[in-house]
Amino acid sequence: MSDSKKARILELTELLHQYSHAYYNLNTTSVPDAEYDELFDELVALEAAYPDFIQEHSPTQRVGAKPLDKFSQFEHTLPMLSLEKAKTEEELSQFNKRISESLDSESEITFCCEPKLDGVALSLHYQHGLLKRAVTRGDGFTGEDVTQNARTIKSVPLKLLGDEHPAMLEIRGEAYIPLSMFAQMNDRSGASGEKLFANPRNAASGSLRQLDAKIASCRPLSFSAYSVGDVEDTHTQLDQSSHYARLQQLQSMGLAVSPLLKKVKGISAVIAYCHDILKQRDQLGFEIDGVVIKVDSLAQQQALGFVARAPRWAIAFKFPAQEQLTTLLDVEFQVGRTGAITPVARLAPVEVGGVTVSNATLHNQDEINRLGIKIGDTVTVRRAGDVIPQIVAVLLERRPPQAHDIVFPAACPVCHSAVERVSGEAVARCSGGLFCPAQLKESIKHFVSRKAMDIDGLGDKLVEQLVDQQLVKTPADIYTLDMPALIGLERMAEKSALKLLNAIKSSSQTSLPRFIYALGIREVGEATALNLAQHFGSLPAIANATVEQLLAVNDVGNIVAEHLLSFFAEPHNQQVIADLQHVGINWPDITVQQASAQPLAGFTVVLTGTLSAMGRDDAKARLQQLGAKVSGSVSAKTYAVIAGDNAGSKLAKANDLNVPVWTEQQMLDLFNRNGVA
Ligand code: NAD
Repeated sequence: MSDSKKARILELTELLHQYSHAYYNLNTTSVPDAEYDELFDELVALEAAYPDFIQEHSPTQRVGAKPLDKFSQFEHTLPMLSLEKAKTEEELSQFNKRISESLDSESEITFCCEPKLDGVALSLHYQHGLLKRAVTRGDGFTGEDVTQNARTIKSVPLKLLGDEHPAMLEIRGEAYIPLSMFAQMNDRSGASGEKLFANPRNAASGSLRQLDAKIASCRPLSFSAYSVGDVEDTHTQLDQSSHYARLQQLQSMGLAVSPLLKKVKGISAVIAYCHDILKQRDQLGFEIDGVVIKVDSLAQQQALGFVARAPRWAIAFKFPAQEQLTTLLDVEFQVGRTGAITPVARLAPVEVGGVTVSNATLHNQDEINRLGIKIGDTVTVRRAGDVIPQIVAVLLERRPPQAHDIVFPAACPVCHSAVERVSGEAVARCSGGLFCPAQLKESIKHFVSRKAMDIDGLGDKLVEQLVDQQLVKTPADIYTLDMPALIGLERMAEKSALKLLNAIKSSSQTSLPRFIYALGIREVGEATALNLAQHFGSLPAIANATVEQLLAVNDVGNIVAEHLLSFFAEPHNQQVIADLQHVGINWPDITVQQASAQPLAGFTVVLTGTLSAMGRDDAKARLQQLGAKVSGSVSAKTYAVIAGDNAGSKLAKANDLNVPVWTEQQMLDLFNRNGVA
């Protein structure tokens, strides 16, 4: 029995050792953290039962991995440790109980809480306020000297603010890459054929440990401080009582600390904080994997001390993992509005970031090639923030013998028309056009959508039924629908049918930009449609424009111009437009404005209060189209304040300063007169 346990301990030690090396030193992840953590917990339990079998290099006995010798190494004066982990509220309460008992404290403990950034730990050494050295955590005792790279991080001050500073001040924190920057960085790498990073943590670790500081300087690293390490402070300016107070001091020295840092009393408040941060997780703009909770009193921290690899006075509350392993069961092909055929992975359902994921887009053939993925493979699925689930890696070593290639269909899976693949384009397309029911459904969904013809009540399910029952074969058919046709549909009672018919009718009176957008011309979004309408003033002028004339429009480049030309040259599309006009769709033409004649050019306006006809962003975009600068604050130079319902201090200030105040209706009238309604 104990032999098999020993064998398992050895096996887990080797496996975790190997995974750690890849994770900490090669900046790749061989398995998702959740799987690593599971194996780690199994090893902890086995080692507790069979302590004699604990290996010296067991990952439970150490932190991180041995530093790479490509950098010069630096021994930390105080070790940089790991954190104990809790996954449940129960485990947090046990932590609280443990420390309360150990401190013999009757009263509730004060904690300092902050989100746990998912990047890499970095230690900054300041001598008399000047940055002298930056060191990675390494194995906790010895790290890598990455000073040159750290100096390129804009949020790492080269000199601390203020006059007097300790002879030596070590500041610890996390180097990380914000999500938007990560996406841009991977887009750039993808475009230049470089390897993509699977997640922001790997990217941060890889960037910080770049041998070439010039490359590191192009990587969008940020730094957020979370503690003070070693200090030689002859003047004792540093607060000696509270962790929270120290972080405030770091902030006043010019370091970024978490804006979500909070001091709370008692474990119930800690639990409430964790819930609150979990709710905000997807909106934070950077990746976090939990919350770090530290005892605030430095005296209490000292009394509690350390265990082997972590302080006793801190714990990390771990959030659900954003990456998991699952199996690719099959690939289906979906046809979009423009005929693009998208491979969609059908996955064995798996919980990722608190949501069950069973599909993920594979984008196109290039992505399939990049991943080298086959049906039957074990894959890492990632679901972070509001980004749709993605397959970020394939575990080749787990490929089963029966795994097989993903084959793109030669014919459209819906209408069986030929599939075209334009050379140089990653996307394969069905050539069926509106003959293809899948394209027709998506085109109609787009045509009726809010920013297009805005037909309220005509949702996706209803569009699908209308196309399936062949009641709608072209957009114009929507306008010939009648009560008997609608009543026959699922879940359609007389009252809702009547409401829908009214909505259809009122949508026929529209605007030129909406109509152009509704046509669904490739690459012509809402803004381009608006620019085209304002530039040309009428549909025939757009339809008959030459490439040169189209290129003169703001926002229109060669690709968009090509799409416009081929769209209007296609007899089928001309017929669609004629049919729509025939069934009564109409709009006023627009008086073409010269750029200099934009009515609000050079003026600043301020929006305040609640608008009822459109959202604030829509109103802002239209005001900008008319040349206005839209500002958030009122001054004597403001041209006008547009006040919706419940306008407050900005309206009062406008009145004080004698700035003209417009009603929402006055703004809408201006939009109408200028064709931006
Ligand atoms: P950890 O990374 O979970 O926690 C310690 C680290 O948290 C610190 O070093 C610091 O970088 C960071 N941190 C963020 N905010 C902090 C704050 N406010 N205060 C203090 N520290 C803060 O612990 P660890 O033991 O170093 O690493 C274990 C983690 O790494 C696990 O989540 C594990 O899944 C993952 N890992 C994964 C693999 C893999 O192959 N997938 C391999 C090794 C480790």
